Amino acid sequence: MGLNISVCDECGEVLAPPRFKCPECRNEMKVFEASGMGIVVTHTTVHVVPEGFDPPIMVGLVKLDAGGQVLARADFELETGMRVNVEELEDGTHRIDLVE
Ligand SMILES: [Zn+2]
Repeated sequence: MGLNISVCDECGEVLAPPRFKCPECRNEMKVFEASGMGIVVTHTTVHVVPEGFDPPIMVGLVKLDAGGQVLARADFELETGMRVNVEELEDGTHRIDLVE
C-alpha cells in the first residue's frame, strides 16, 4: 500500500518518486513510505505510448495528502479534483486507483 516519498528537512520539499538529494537546496532527503491518498490536479490521455502498453493511457498528476505531486497512470477516465489512491508498483511506476 502507498508509495515512497522523500522529504527535505531544510526546505520542506516533498518528492515522489523519492530522491536522496533535494533538488532545491542539495540537502539529504529522508525517504519513507506514505499514504498514496490524494487529489487529481490535472490529467491527460496519451495516445502514443511506449512499447508494451495498450493505447490510450490515462495519466494524472496527483497532489498527495502527504505533500508533493506524483505522475501516475490509471485504467479509467480521470477527472480533476477526483479523490484517488496512488500505488507504487514493483517496476517503480505508479498507478492510480479509485477511492470510494
Ligand atoms: Zn531542500
